[in-house]
Amino acid sequence: MPAPLRLRLDGDALVQNWRTLDRMSGTAACGAAVKANGYGLGAIEVARRLADAGCRDFFVSNWQEAAELAPLGLTVSVLHGVREEDMPAAAAGFARPVLNTPRQVARWKAAGGGVCDVMVDTGMNRLGVSADDIAAGLLDGLQIETLMSHLACADEDSPMNERQRVAFAALAGQTSARRMSLANSAGIALEGYAFDLTRPGLALYGGIPRAQLGEAIRPVVTPEAQILQRRRVVAGDTVGYNATWTASRVTEVAIINLGYADGYFRGFSDRGSAVVDGKHVPVIGRVSMDLLAIDVTAVAEIEEGAWIALYFALPDAAARSGMSQYELLTGMGARYSRSWS
Ligand SMILES: *Cc1c(COP(=O)(O)O)cnc(C)c1O
Repeated sequence: MPAPLRLRLDGDALVQNWRTLDRMSGTAACGAAVKANGYGLGAIEVARRLADAGCRDFFVSNWQEAAELAPLGLTVSVLHGVREEDMPAAAAGFARPVLNTPRQVARWKAAGGGVCDVMVDTGMNRLGVSADDIAAGLLDGLQIETLMSHLACADEDSPMNERQRVAFAALAGQTSARRMSLANSAGIALEGYAFDLTRPGLALYGGIPRAQLGEAIRPVVTPEAQILQRRRVVAGDTVGYNATWTASRVTEVAIINLGYADGYFRGFSDRGSAVVDGKHVPVIGRVSMDLLAIDVTAVAEIEEGAWIALYFALPDAAARSGMSQYELLTGMGARYSRSWS
């Protein structure tokens, strides 16, 4: 059945973004975070393209995501570590856990688990063992490939970045880890945070968490929807739920088959736009669950059935909608066909 919506995905831009981040990572290797279905783009399609480009380290959140990638035969690390119920999957060997807690470490040691990664908390207080745990010998006897930590504020100029970098650097040589890894996308734009391996996610997919990445990172994702109906309204008519938009003149309105259930969130009401023949045409009124109204007066030639592209440049779309770039990518949902060029 033909999909009602399309995500146009630019495979060249994805690969170029990875190459840019790899170059910015200096001598460190550059991996890829492909959790949450490759930030909504499709994990298998993303991982296959990046592996072909030379990427060797992939990060997912859980074992279900790791199992999906298993047919590709890549090196995959599972960021949430290993729960008791994950042990059979972990034993199958298609990915390795990033151990986060003393219990996970004990579970992995008891199972004779083999090579693993370890997350250490350096101040974010999200996941990870503590530096004190490490000093007390928690990790002794583990075969660690990568010791990693995660930056809380890499997208800001916060003194916390330097504190975390220093705390992490102090762990060099304190474990059996072959490599150390700290930087996400935003961290790659900071000087001296790359260590041996970087772990970008957002910027691969066209997100720009720091201005320094703005020049080099190319957009990857464009949502496209179809006009279901065109109508003409006159001065005083209103459009959409709660009649929040009122026409001040004769207006050509296109109703398209996209809404907040497709990740085009309500924050785009009266603030989003579509791009037709290079011209921005504004979203008017409230975004509905499955529908949206656009003022196409300026481009009177597009008809019912025409496909139109939503303006989705991530930093700008995030600012307009009040959502984060991460939410915009991962919220896109299941109604789109995903077509790569
Ligand atoms: C998601 C994630 C990343 C990637 O972060 P971006 O900000 O998307 O580049 C890297 N490391 C860890 C531990 C993560 O959870």
